[in-house]
Amino acid sequence: MKNTIEGFGENVFGLPVMEAHLSAPTFASLKRTIDTGSMLDASIADEVAEAMKIWAMEKGATHYTHWFQPLTGATAEKHDSFIFPDFKDGIVTHFSGNELIQGEPDASSFPSGGLRATFEARGYTGWDPTSPAFIKYADAGAATLCIPTVFCGYNGEALDKKTPLLRSMKVLSEQSIRLGKLFGIDCGETMAKATLGAEQEYFLIDQDLVAARPDILQTGRTLFGRSAVKHQQLDDHYFGAIKPRVAVFMADLDAELWKAGVPSKTRHNEVCPGQFEMAPVFETLNVAVDHNMISMEIIKTIAEKHGFTCLLHEKPFAGVNGSGKHNNWSIVGPDGKNWLQPGDNPHENAKFMTLVVALMKAVDIHADLLRATVATAGNDHRLGANEAPPAIVSIFLGDQLTDVIEQIEAGGASRSTDGGSIHLGVDLLPKLPRGNTDRNRTSPFAFVGNRFEFRALGSNQSPAGANIVINTIVAEALDEICTQVEASLAEGKEFNAALQDVLAEMIKKHKRILFNGDGYTEGWLEEAARRGLPNLVTTEDALEAINTQKAKDLFSKYGVLSNEELESRYNIYVEAYKTLIGIEAGTALEIAKTIIIPAVVTAITEYSAVPAVASITQEMSTLLEKTIAGIAGLEAAEDPAAEIVAMNELRVSVDALEGLVPADLWPMPTYSEMLLV
Ligand code: ADP
Ligand code: MG
Repeated sequence: MKNTIEGFGENVFGLPVMEAHLSAPTFASLKRTIDTGSMLDASIADEVAEAMKIWAMEKGATHYTHWFQPLTGATAEKHDSFIFPDFKDGIVTHFSGNELIQGEPDASSFPSGGLRATFEARGYTGWDPTSPAFIKYADAGAATLCIPTVFCGYNGEALDKKTPLLRSMKVLSEQSIRLGKLFGIDCGETMAKATLGAEQEYFLIDQDLVAARPDILQTGRTLFGRSAVKHQQLDDHYFGAIKPRVAVFMADLDAELWKAGVPSKTRHNEVCPGQFEMAPVFETLNVAVDHNMISMEIIKTIAEKHGFTCLLHEKPFAGVNGSGKHNNWSIVGPDGKNWLQPGDNPHENAKFMTLVVALMKAVDIHADLLRATVATAGNDHRLGANEAPPAIVSIFLGDQLTDVIEQIEAGGASRSTDGGSIHLGVDLLPKLPRGNTDRNRTSPFAFVGNRFEFRALGSNQSPAGANIVINTIVAEALDEICTQVEASLAEGKEFNAALQDVLAEMIKKHKRILFNGDGYTEGWLEEAARRGLPNLVTTEDALEAINTQKAKDLFSKYGVLSNEELESRYNIYVEAYKTLIGIEAGTALEIAKTIIIPAVVTAITEYSAVPAVASITQEMSTLLEKTIAGIAGLEAAEDPAAEIVAMNELRVSVDALEGLVPADLWPMPTYSEMLLV
């Protein structure tokens, strides 16, 4: 009887492989570093490197690379082979501890946002032993050992997304351990770990059709295109039977993901035809982030193999749903338990409620920062467009948990729906419905039974940014709670009473962040404005949150990002946004001038000979004039905001022409061909 997935983790230098390939003391030392975040003992590096090399070469690898995540949002690698001359006209293979621990790629072509002067082009990569090395196979069978690393400048300044992510995990752990101690949980140096399950949406489009769409090729989305007559209105795609060609792709995808150690779990059709989702089982945050980056790459590669192009863009097609990435986040305490799982006894429940209140405070104070982490040109098309959460960040707790929160706020005074009231640390919580998922899906930050789900991430984004912020702001809130409770205890107050007072106070201050209703309504926009919650609609507005004293104070206080590191990120994201909109504008112009207009002219010429179609000919001529004017308007646009308006205007006349020009003359594949074929 078969009761295992063959090949799972086959390409990963994970714990079982390490244990088999390393001496017992070396394995123990490395495992301690992984579990506790303690400094790596450099003296074991040579042995680990040699074992990794032998394992990798047995799997066909000839090269290794430090694999890192620069601020472009993608991943980067520079390959080195294992060979070394033996100075007797032959070679030996070689991979030293130093080569494992540190690399020095030329950093000059990666964005530094002003962090690094051009004469100081050096950058350093440093091994992250907490995320396992893996082998990547290119199509031709070429295998490369990929070693997850951080990427820093000469003075240790972070030039990547992993460095601040690891720093933020450390501060979250420190404050969680501190909270644990108040609750009598002391597990020595074992870390608390944030966990992440990232649900990944994507589109699959036939490769041959994409080849004839320069907009998709250059920008990842369609800049023109008339909505298909039948698309998602019938809601017949969501969770529908998976078509055979896609099912075969998905089987192949899972096999590859599993080999890479990604615990891919669910797969299904999404709302829009051609749209799908993959969700892995959650893992320790930094490993889950690495795995999401690997997954995005593998989905694209496997799609190519099956004649598809995978679109990870947040809004590849106007008028139908775009793609997001749900960020399921929780904390596993040093005791190994999920601290966002409501407990079985009053004591555990008090800890659970403490975390919920910490989240409320964190999200209320830093709603703008959370919004900034999902601010990209692609995501602007989704947020607030009645398909994804609004740009206003609020928290959904559900009715029962909200009721408990209100009881704590009322200070245990007798007011409640079912007779009694909750006394923290004394009473049991009412049974919260398990898997209490927010079915209306309109809340950006929802409690879903045993974790919080941040639903505003774009499908194409690295999850690192959002989680750096979540970890840091929750750490800040826990810090404040612990500081206040510790002070009360020092004054001789009883623990539960002290905690009750601190939480009640915080709830009063921050309950405006709670919203259980429909986030898509006009009424909520007005209500949120009354509550003073920020509604940052565009990327340009949202990114300003990174550039505030509040953000600088937060990140520097906890050592997650220095002021300079934060500024550099702001500069990079603002610049990237401008560049991207500029590329879209340039591509739209080129397509309109060189592809659309010639086709329309041909159609008009052919129709001109037939008086019976004179009215259509006239309509096409009018739209052609509008298109020419639209081109002039786009050419005159000087900043991203103006470019976006002009692109939309140009699109209106082009899309109208698509509805008039004979199908065989229309020069690009249509929405219906791409989405339904
Ligand atoms: P849904 O679509 O209902 O949100 P999915 O199964 O598609 O459910 O995705 C849920 C995600 O949440 C999965 O990746 C799952 O592993 C993850 N998850 C479950 N528990 C936790 C947890 N404690 N911490 C982080 N993620 C979790
Ligand atoms: Mg979900």
